[in-house]
Amino acid sequence: MLGVKDKALLAQRYLLSRLPKRTFFSFVAPLRKCNLDCHYCYQIDMQPKCMSFEEFCDYAYNLRRIGVGVISFTGGEPMMWSHLSEAIRFTRTKKMIPHLNTNGTLLSQNALRSFAEEGLAGMMVSLDSIEAIPSSYKTLSHNPELLNLIHYAKSLGIITTCNAVLSKATAEGMPSLIERLDSEGIPISIGIFDAGTSIEAKRALGFNSETDLQLLANTVKSITSLKAQGAKIVEPTSYFLDYLDSQVSSSSWICQKAKLKSLAIGPSGQVLLCPRINTEIGFLNSSFKITSDMQKLAESRVAKCSPFCHSNCSYNSSYYQRHPFKTILGLASIKAI
Ligand code: SF4
Ligand code: SF4
Repeated sequence: MLGVKDKALLAQRYLLSRLPKRTFFSFVAPLRKCNLDCHYCYQIDMQPKCMSFEEFCDYAYNLRRIGVGVISFTGGEPMMWSHLSEAIRFTRTKKMIPHLNTNGTLLSQNALRSFAEEGLAGMMVSLDSIEAIPSSYKTLSHNPELLNLIHYAKSLGIITTCNAVLSKATAEGMPSLIERLDSEGIPISIGIFDAGTSIEAKRALGFNSETDLQLLANTVKSITSLKAQGAKIVEPTSYFLDYLDSQVSSSSWICQKAKLKSLAIGPSGQVLLCPRINTEIGFLNSSFKITSDMQKLAESRVAKCSPFCHSNCSYNSSYYQRHPFKTILGLASIKAI
């Protein structure tokens, strides 16, 4: 739940993060294990290291010190981490906003009640399709209780959004998924499948041939038309149109990870520029601060990956960093972001 004070805090941290060497958002991955095995995953390596609660408290303290306003728990699957509820509470005590990314398969009413009591503000639940598809278990067919649980989360004040990966396997069903969620009052965030994963996954899920690209163009047309009609789709229309353009010319967006406005923290406290490319820029200890050298490293690394990357999450943060007025309005209403 986000009260007026939370919104004011977010707006203040966001404005401060526009200063050099300040950051705003942090993904924290307490573990890299998951109970699923999606074909397109770049986030799991099943390494045994799991963050202890004491380590988390240390990292959270240091994130607060460098200006972070939001901690978003990710993984792997963060619901497999036994300290999640207490970590949500600790995040609140350090005056940061806790948010959860989950594949939704381990959600229950009890877990949601406990998260809400500890102060969870928002949740992003993966949902790729209504029908079963070969590349993902994150479908309503696999998890028929999911929408009821999302409504329950909303009734507890947890702002909940679904997240879908638009791939060759999900393209046809994407308009129906958007319409279904919209009819239930649940916003959707849509990321286009990226080639940053294995060749095998790219063959199975990427938009590779002329026919695939036509399928993508038709789906984008449906998505942008649904958005124009008012469907609650998180990404700006330009995300989808820029992706289509990038198939004929180089990508026109610049990933804000180059400015280190968001950081990803791994299970051992390693600070990653981005989990997709696993570039480490330091360790989150008491002397960690963002330096000019880190910024130079981030800029040169992003210059290499940005032309080929279509991460919706990074696109959105770039968009909102470029549109501060919309961001402040979005933070006030929590509709747009
Ligand atoms: S649910 Fe998420 S973390 Fe787990 S395998 Fe799928 S994409 Fe990876
Ligand atoms: S361009 Fe993509 S891969 Fe590179 S840092 Fe940004 S989000 Fe990560």
